Amino acid sequence: MSEMQYQLGLLKAMNQKLTEKERMYNAICESAEGAFLYFPMDRNQIVTLGRLKDFFSFDIKDCGDLQRILDEVDDAHVMDLRRVLYLEKSGRGTDAAECQLKSRRMWLRFSARVSFDRDGKPADKVIHISDITKQRSRDEELLYMAYYDGLTGLYNRNYFVRMLGEYIRTAEETNSVVSVMNIDIDEFNKVNDGLGIVMGDELVQQFGLMLKDLCQEKNMIACHLHRDVFCMAIYDPAGQRTADNLYRKIRDRLMEPFHLSDGSDITVTVSVGVAEYPEASHSALELINYAELVVFRVKAAGRNGIQYFNVPILDEFLNSVELENKLKQAVINNDFIMYYQPQYYTGSKRLRGVEALVRWKGSDGEVITPGTFIPVAEKNGSIVPIGKWVVEESIRQYARWRRQFGFPFIMSINISALQYKKSSFVDFLLSTLNNYQVSPSEIELEITESVLIDDFATVSERLKVLRSYGIRISLDDFGTGFSSLSYLKKLPIDTLKIDKSFIDTVMTDAPTRVITEAILNMVKALGFESIAEGVEEEQQYNYLHSIGCDVIQGYLFGRPQPPEELEKVLEGSPA
Ligand code: C2E
Ligand code: MG
Ligand code: MG
Repeated sequence: MSEMQYQLGLLKAMNQKLTEKERMYNAICESAEGAFLYFPMDRNQIVTLGRLKDFFSFDIKDCGDLQRILDEVDDAHVMDLRRVLYLEKSGRGTDAAECQLKSRRMWLRFSARVSFDRDGKPADKVIHISDITKQRSRDEELLYMAYYDGLTGLYNRNYFVRMLGEYIRTAEETNSVVSVMNIDIDEFNKVNDGLGIVMGDELVQQFGLMLKDLCQEKNMIACHLHRDVFCMAIYDPAGQRTADNLYRKIRDRLMEPFHLSDGSDITVTVSVGVAEYPEASHSALELINYAELVVFRVKAAGRNGIQYFNVPILDEFLNSVELENKLKQAVINNDFIMYYQPQYYTGSKRLRGVEALVRWKGSDGEVITPGTFIPVAEKNGSIVPIGKWVVEESIRQYARWRRQFGFPFIMSINISALQYKKSSFVDFLLSTLNNYQVSPSEIELEITESVLIDDFATVSERLKVLRSYGIRISLDDFGTGFSSLSYLKKLPIDTLKIDKSFIDTVMTDAPTRVITEAILNMVKALGFESIAEGVEEEQQYNYLHSIGCDVIQGYLFGRPQPPEELEKVLEGSPA
């Protein structure tokens, strides 16, 4: 073989090896995601490998073509990308940029690597281009979820708290006010219960959109806190009571109904609480809580209004919390006692019976009347154990007195709505009477209208059962609240108690006398017994006697008193 042939053979073999390598590189790059640009630094040339066509419609052959890539990406990302495309100029080895293409919504990641020779000069550079659109949209979705509320598209609580923190920091520097408004849709339950959760959600959604419209101005953001409750923060550098203005705008907008997809038009009102930095607090979370706290005040005052937070409101709230905690403890320790107030037949002045009235023995011996704690006990449910104790204790006491004094009278016991709602109430009462061997006809249950308003059907059914056993039923505080006359027809009543508020003015106010007399006539016609509560003066007694009231209860003839005091009354009563 000649030298020439040998050299040719060698070259051929080398070429074959080279094309094999090239094929291998190509195969790898084709199967890899994206495209590669290879820049040998000693030439103004770029080798492209992989799937560049997926991204650009043009070829890239030399450094002049890099400008075409820059032309394709969104203006906001050009600077970043330029830094990566010309990485060798920075002296760094690696860098990357994420850019969105102008023409499509595609996101690309460019990552560059430069290798340097022994003298530290750039030898070559590779740029890998990959499609990161999917990843970006997932990130965006996560970002959305982190900042926004899914139902309304308003900010969520977390982001709102963060922004409110920023407002407060700015306000600290500029001596300004930040108002936090808690906005609660009134009687949202009615919509939810009446039209269903889906329509309830739709209302919340539309309400949210309305708030979003209202906070187009900067320095104002809204969020959906929960259910039907929204919160807005307003940075108010000029101190122009922007919260008031906003409230007026919301009310104006709410004159119009919301149109729901089931065809119903819903008009709502809102209760709004406002707490302001720096007056109420310097903490974002506290401002949100305080604004929510004063909403309860607005609700209690009949809804559809606005209330600003102030310290007395906080004190009142803290006191009620303290009372609630003390009451829970009192239930555990059974710190209650019973007082009994006598009732007398008018005319004969014979004892008719006693009303059992609970008292709370405070820690330093003071006696706390039920007006202070019964409303709290009804709210937190402790009325159920307290009431159970009251029933048992009054019946136990009655059984003892009945044996001791040898004559029957009526033991009248106040029962709360929550007690009637317990399905076990009837059984409990009957078994207590049985345990103490007390006749049901000597026990009377006092109910108020609030018991009936809540769940008339259940309560009246239970009352009928109790009455069928001979237990007496008395309608307490008649004349307050709604006093629906239809109750009188539908309920199994034996006695009606005319509220003290009538007795208070019966001697001084002619219309009160007209009403009192009309009530008494009606009571007589229906065959009920009448009791006047809160009789303090002889004059009142004489008048009530003259118009035919059956029974008198009041300080005039006896206050509520502990059992040992009442025993003196019982001793003096005819057998
Ligand atoms: P009520 O059932 O209407 O009881 C009558 C209230 O009027 C009692 O107040 C009694 O002390 C008061 N009173 C009676 N005569 C006079 C009077 O001549 N002048 C004045 N100023 N007041 C008079 P008390 O004992 O403070 O009870 C208030 C309310 O608390 C009761 O009103 C009743 O609704 C509720 N309550 C009392 N004990 C119980 C109980 O054991 N269970 C439940 N659920 N509620 C109770
Ligand atoms: Mg009563
Ligand atoms: Mg009463």
